Amino acid sequence: MKNKNRGLIFDLQRLSLVDGPGGRTVVFLKGCPLACIWCANPELISPDREIILKDKKCALLEKCVEVCPQNAISIMDGQRIIDWDKCDRCGKCADACPSRAIEHIGEYVTTDEIMKVVMQDVRFYRVSGGGLTLSGGDPLSQPEFALTLLKAAKQKKVHTALDTCGFAKWELFKSLLDHTDLLLYDIKHIDSARHKEITGEPNELILSNLQKTAAGSDSRSGLKIWIRYPLIPDINDGDDDIDNLCRFVADLGPLVEKIALLPYHDLGAEKYAAVGRKYSLAKTSPHPNEIVSKIKARVESYGLVAGIGGGK
Ligand code: SF4
Ligand code: SF4
Repeated sequence: MKNKNRGLIFDLQRLSLVDGPGGRTVVFLKGCPLACIWCANPELISPDREIILKDKKCALLEKCVEVCPQNAISIMDGQRIIDWDKCDRCGKCADACPSRAIEHIGEYVTTDEIMKVVMQDVRFYRVSGGGLTLSGGDPLSQPEFALTLLKAAKQKKVHTALDTCGFAKWELFKSLLDHTDLLLYDIKHIDSARHKEITGEPNELILSNLQKTAAGSDSRSGLKIWIRYPLIPDINDGDDDIDNLCRFVADLGPLVEKIALLPYHDLGAEKYAAVGRKYSLAKTSPHPNEIVSKIKARVESYGLVAGIGGGK
């Protein structure tokens, strides 16, 4: 069960050099309120524990077929097939598979367990200017747990970064902001109707939370904001999309330090089938470098600081 002291995470990475300044410990919380059609981590979208198939490891031992209470697994033409409509993600097949050809996604951990790991690298944070980053999925999918973690880190004087899409009621979002030093804030599309088409949700709440945060009156002093904009070919890379984004960001004021452009890649595409989801951008190719550079220059022409990639 999830609560303020226990959450479901996908991974915890130490000594990371991305997702904020310096060297960081990054906790990837499971679950996201959006479902972006290009998401490189489809196994993190569901807030629940689930399974992922590792077909190359499958030795056709059929243990999974024997234990599945839903009769969702069959062997056909020398291949293990899962009927995802029948599967309720109970995970019994992953427990039974000796080859680890089906694995669990998501582990329950306590805040104490995470903080124990976080505190092992305190000297590294001090030297590099790093700290703790909550990412995902999206930390807003487990807000109470995220809040406890941020508070615990601040009590230990560890720098905190919150990597989020911002889709939450203001009061809840603000409660996390009060313990955040750096906000890594995603804007997926500046047009709300288009945002809904490509993420499943409109963007008014997201943009309004960002405006209130940037206005600074409700947030802790010293907060900084980095905007993150995934550049998806033919989805949000048109001149109008970029111009409207830049006008919006330019109006936010000095708390915004930069826009990080995150070029599309298809490294997550294969995972979709492995977790029973469909990938709709199979025919999309990444932008050539010169197009990304042109878009960066366009952003900079608005007087904004732009970078490529999600690092420092
Ligand atoms: S907000 Fe991020 S984690 Fe959530 S669906 Fe979009 S890309 Fe994936
Ligand atoms: S996770 Fe799905 S396929 Fe695996 S045992 Fe449970 S119902 Fe069957």
